[in-house]
Amino acid sequence: MQTNFSATQLEDPEIAVANKILRNCVHCGFCTATCPTFVTLGDELDSPRGRIYLIKDMLENGRPAAEEEVLHIDRCLSCLSCMTTCPSGVDYMHLVDHARVHIEETYKRPWADRLLRDALAHILPYPARMRAALRLAQLGKPFAFALAGQSMLAKRLRAMLKLAPAKMAARQSLGGTVHKAIGETKGRVALLAGCAQQALAPSINNATIALLNRLGVEVIIPAAAGCCGALVHHMGRHEQALAAARQNVTAWAGLGLDAVIVNTSGCGTVLKDYGFLLRNDPMAETAASISAISMDISAYLLKIYTPARPSPGLRVAYHAACSLQHGQKITSAPKTLLRKAGFTVLEPADAHLCCGSAGTYNIMQPDISAALRSRKLATLQALKPDVIAAGNIGCLTQLAGDGVPTVHMVELLDWMAGGTKPAGL
Ligand code: SF4
Ligand code: SF4
Repeated sequence: MQTNFSATQLEDPEIAVANKILRNCVHCGFCTATCPTFVTLGDELDSPRGRIYLIKDMLENGRPAAEEEVLHIDRCLSCLSCMTTCPSGVDYMHLVDHARVHIEETYKRPWADRLLRDALAHILPYPARMRAALRLAQLGKPFAFALAGQSMLAKRLRAMLKLAPAKMAARQSLGGTVHKAIGETKGRVALLAGCAQQALAPSINNATIALLNRLGVEVIIPAAAGCCGALVHHMGRHEQALAAARQNVTAWAGLGLDAVIVNTSGCGTVLKDYGFLLRNDPMAETAASISAISMDISAYLLKIYTPARPSPGLRVAYHAACSLQHGQKITSAPKTLLRKAGFTVLEPADAHLCCGSAGTYNIMQPDISAALRSRKLATLQALKPDVIAAGNIGCLTQLAGDGVPTVHMVELLDWMAGGTKPAGL
């Protein structure tokens, strides 16, 4: 694609990166067929190619974001399915990330939008605040009827109330803990304990730690490590995301780790991008070294996992989180592990399509999110599974509550290695 940035514009390193990405696109449109928003809405402007044109126009003209760009870029899930499909290797992720920052800096959203986005950015990354918000949502759930109506605000508030669990999970406080390996120590890793996940499903971290310890791996969770920054990063809040990245890099650097383990694949994609995010920062080199050892739990377990009890022969429908299959290109490891543990692994049709969770997307874009959820659940339930497994808390929350239990794959693996049976099975 031909671009027309001026020499002065190209002196901005962010614009220089965007220019390079844009020039790789040959507008073939292959990506449209696998884009969940194009498949759902059928509008070219809700396809990767359409968004690329919008971003190009906005950046080349050096103008503030307009309503049209905000509408269509906000509707992008950042699922990165387009990157898997694109034959030209267009780095859509960094392009849309930059567009989001540009929108955040130049566009004034309606007050209700600003208020909600501010609230999400100041609650979700902090487990204690997230717990308090979930409690409030629990209390508010019986009054959801008062939010009747089809306004976007009413739909978003209903979507938030829906996230409240029927029963609050036990409080989890893992910061500053070290979990020794059982028997001979064969490895030493840090675990990203996550933010929202700690409040929603602490059992995932518990299973991860127990399984790694049982396999001879020591697990460290430094007190200074916190949210990975993904949630605010996808909202275009660049400085907040960079601050989270710096804090984590500082917390993990110098610990002599074999790996930084991530069991929320949405976070894993961002950790692997710390090197890029902090490329112009004094800690660029350290950030790149942390990215290099960041690893999804499935990739780490592949070489060391051994089951220890007979399989119950369950049929597991595996839902591939976009951040894992498109963001990190990890496709076979989770299925290989589940089969090794003795489960029958089933895969749904259109496995490349997003379930509609995507960070705060299920709150901010409730209609598209609900349509994608229904589509995904239909293909998963057609497999007649005993359980749905995934490697990302966002997807598990999105797909829960429709008859089939949802569990993190690491909970199934831990169970078969001698751990406790996942709740709900
Ligand atoms: S598939 Fe790649 S090259 Fe083709 S239009 Fe999409 S982004 Fe551009
Ligand atoms: S990231 Fe996903 S939703 Fe966004 S343009 Fe690419 S395929 Fe479509």
